[in-house]
Amino acid sequence: MEIFYSIQGEGFYSGTPAIFIRLGGCDVGCVWCDVKESWNEEDHPFFTIPEILSQIKDYPCKTIIITGGEPLMYDMGELTAALKEKGYQLNIETSGAYPVTGQWDWVCFSPKKFKAPNESIYAHADELKAIVFNKSDFDFAEEHAEKVNRTCKLYLQPEWSKAEKMTPQIIEYAKDHSRWNISLQTHKYLNIP
Ligand code: SF4
Repeated sequence: MEIFYSIQGEGFYSGTPAIFIRLGGCDVGCVWCDVKESWNEEDHPFFTIPEILSQIKDYPCKTIIITGGEPLMYDMGELTAALKEKGYQLNIETSGAYPVTGQWDWVCFSPKKFKAPNESIYAHADELKAIVFNKSDFDFAEEHAEKVNRTCKLYLQPEWSKAEKMTPQIIEYAKDHSRWNISLQTHKYLNIP
């Protein structure tokens, strides 16, 4: 869908410069999705792996975030092997709705109520980022936290349109359940892509 160089706004890598490769296509259907234009993969250009490598080669950065859409709708083996060969660090942002493929240095798993995660994601998740849209999302977050590895970082992030209402509740929840950290969509506050 698009390739751009920016700063990771949220989660464990928040504040880190990174090349973003956004893959078109998603069938998860989150009602509050902020990239609905990504859903239909046919709306977006097709790039070969050499074309992707050529587009990113001049960025002064070796960290890549592959996002979507839902990137695990595709077999990520070939693309990640080619990027690894060039020495990139590879992070993925996924809802976990499909089996994990590809070679990853960091897996950010953000489960969604709209399509259940594939069981393979739990063993791979380095970071669990639960989006809080309403109160029931705290229980939803805990359900998934039970299944990830003990080393997995846990984040609660307010859904953007509900941030004003939910952030105070997230703050109190994190204080009462100190395994959880707060993630904010800082790129939206900073007005960067
Ligand atoms: S998984 Fe991501 S891209 Fe897909 S609908 Fe949900 S928020 Fe949007």
